[in-house]
Formats: sequence, C-alpha cells, structure tokens
Amino acid sequence: MNDRENIIAGIKNTREEINIACEKSGRNRSEVKLLLATKTVSADRIRIAIEAGERLIGENRVQEYSEKFEAIKDLNCERHFIGHLQTNKIKEVLKYVSCIQSVDRIELAEKLDSRLQFEGRSINIFVQINTSFEESKFGIPPEEAFALIKKINNLDTLKIKGLMTIGLFSDDEVLVKKSYHLLREIKDKAIAEGLIAKDCSELSMGMSNDLEWAIAEGATMVRVGSAIFGRRN
Ligand SMILES: *Cc1c(COP(=O)(O)O)cnc(C)c1O
Repeated sequence: MNDRENIIAGIKNTREEINIACEKSGRNRSEVKLLLATKTVSADRIRIAIEAGERLIGENRVQEYSEKFEAIKDLNCERHFIGHLQTNKIKEVLKYVSCIQSVDRIELAEKLDSRLQFEGRSINIFVQINTSFEESKFGIPPEEAFALIKKINNLDTLKIKGLMTIGLFSDDEVLVKKSYHLLREIKDKAIAEGLIAKDCSELSMGMSNDLEWAIAEGATMVRVGSAIFGRRN
C-alpha cells in the first residue's frame, strides 16, 4: 500500500474500532468523535485524512501549527490545540484554533482571557486534568480541578466544553481504565454541583492504544495519531 492508502486504511480501522467499542459498551456511536492527533504529520498527509471525511484535528506545538497553518487553513475541519501551552504562545495559538483542550492552570486561563478580551472574542476550552497522577504529565491535579473550573467560569471569554486527560501510560487495563474513570467521576460531580453544563461535558480521552478502554469509561472524543498516520520518529 502507498502512503495515501495506508492513511485511509488507518482511518477505516480506527472507525471500526470505535464502532466495536461503542457496541461492546452499549453506547451510541454518535456520542464519540474522532480527533486526529497530527503532531509531526505533514500538511499533505493531514489533507488526505480530511479528504477521507474526518473533521477534527489537534496539534501539540504552537510552532508546528504556525509552520503548517498556511498549508492546512483551507481544509474543512475544526482545529484544536492539545499540547502543553506556554503563556508566551497564547497570542500565536489563538490564530489557529477554535478550541484549547489543555487549559490546566489559572495563570494560563487568566492570560488567555485577557488576550481574548483584547481581541473581543471567546474560545472553547477543555480543562485538562492529570488523572493518572504521573508526575511527568501536565494537567491540574484532580483535587484542584473544581477550584480551577470555578475560576474559569468567572472568565467570560472561556467556554468550558468538557474535560481532557492523558491516560495512564500502561498496558494494564484495570489501571488505565481507572485513570479514565476518574475523569468521568469528576465530570459527573461537576455537573451535579452545577459547575459545568450537561451539554458542555465532553470527555476527551483515549488514544491509539487504549481508545476501547476510554470509550468503555465514557469518552466522547478519542485523539488518535499513530494508528492512522503510522509511528512517529
Ligand atoms: C500524540 C497525542 C495523542 C495521540 O497519540 P497516539 O498514541 O499516536 O494515538 C493523543 N493526545 C495527545 C495529547 C497527544 O499528544
């Protein structure tokens, strides 16, 4: 198979995997979106995936967005940011995306808000929570999540659409699921306490190797890179 065929096959297999995971866990297929994690993927290869019918991409690095943006800006897709965001890159990233999934600290939220106020617009965000408790991972610790959500709710330009986590890096189904289950629990509790709206409670969780487990735990968006674009160098 050539590169195009490989990407299209990767999409087909991933969609099928999502179908099966939904069936297994008794969920409606329409509840789960596929986000293409496109870090290190060239604009031409992203184009192939969008032409195959995908509608959502996420990049990890602002620098990479700025390098690729000219070549992908005409694509009919939604663009998210899913990587760690430094406050000095805020102005830049806001040129490229309609949603930032990695809001994980008040300083970042406040600086986003002041820039957005200056620009006179708002943006969708996800609150990133470190539900795997791995020190190497970004995301706010679960016990601090509600305080952050409350502060964000006071910022007019940031609209919380849901929560995001990077699951535990492990092959152990029980432990990985636990990290996803925790995000779902936080979501349920946040809804119960009126901190987030039910129709703004997406769960962005699950990647190439564990999307089935994430869907079983309630994911509404899985972020898939290598299963579609191949291994990254
Ligand atoms: C790279 C990345 C993914 C996708 O990882 P794969 O294992 O390649 O599917 C998902 N989410 C984030 C935040 C990523 O950086």
